[in-house]
Amino acid sequence: MVTTVFHMARQCTRQGCVHRASVTLTYQYARSLVWLDDLSAERDPHAYDLCEQHAGRLKPPSGWHLEDRRQRVHVYDAGRLAG
Ligand SMILES: [Zn+2]
Repeated sequence: MVTTVFHMARQCTRQGCVHRASVTLTYQYARSLVWLDDLSAERDPHAYDLCEQHAGRLKPPSGWHLEDRRQRVHVYDAGRLAG
């Protein structure tokens, strides 16, 4: 028997979203903390994969803190910088 490992691109877990996930969201309920990290190498059942847009739009519930731990350098809209 041959086992083939597929390296499938993970998709954003938001319902109806077709974009590729690039961010992993994890949270700790006890501390009311939400973390955004670069997409984890392995799928974690306690984490959510999100695309760039959904990660950017994410608003934690009131009383929660959002910590963006992504290493990525933010890419700004070139048009805005040109002015
Ligand atoms: Zn999405």
